[in-house]
Amino acid sequence: MGQYCHSCGGPLADPNLKRPSDQFCRYCADSHGNLYPEERVQVGIAQWLMTWQPGITEREARERAAHYMRAMPAWAEK
Ligand SMILES: [Zn+2]
Repeated sequence: MGQYCHSCGGPLADPNLKRPSDQFCRYCADSHGNLYPEERVQVGIAQWLMTWQPGITEREARERAAHYMRAMPAWAEK
């Protein structure tokens, strides 16, 4: 573990995503390594999904993001 963000699965080896935390990327945690609220992370993942899935609606993207997050260690127990 430690190579992928525990919240969104993004690769932490990417210097653009790296954060002081070794568990979360810069999109999921602040500069102190504190995880952002679930709503914020979900919106971020939904927007990311829409960038590579043309035609998907924002609502569909949100639902898929929620589903995706349930497979992530940071959100799995919710
Ligand atoms: Zn992340």
